[in-house]
Amino acid sequence: MSFEGGIYEIKKRWVPIYFLITLTSIVMAIFFLLLSTKTNNEDYLGFSLLAFLVSAYFALNLARLMRFHEPKFKIVRLLVCESCKLSYEDVNIAPGDHIFKEVGTCPKCGGKLKIAAIYRVAIK
Ligand SMILES: [Zn+2]
Repeated sequence: MSFEGGIYEIKKRWVPIYFLITLTSIVMAIFFLLLSTKTNNEDYLGFSLLAFLVSAYFALNLARLMRFHEPKFKIVRLLVCESCKLSYEDVNIAPGDHIFKEVGTCPKCGGKLKIAAIYRVAIK
């Protein structure tokens, strides 16, 4: 798993908790709003506003968590021919592959084909 994927897994665990806090604070905001209108006590209006702000904060963070998508990558190896310098990317990477390893013959001239680089490419 990639580093970004690890962060995504950790963040994903917080989604139910954020959802619960958002829901609870909305219920509390409505409760205090009703309480303030029934009792004409302005202190409850303050509590209602506070609960509403908390719910807005957690709702925004929840939306950000839901928008985040795990980035996907594929590993490729760059194959270069020793004699004609033909180079191309190949996705058929195997365990034990390393730079300067001979992997076959050049499809163009029949020379030695070696791995020049191994890297990851983001999949869009
Ligand atoms: Zn070649």
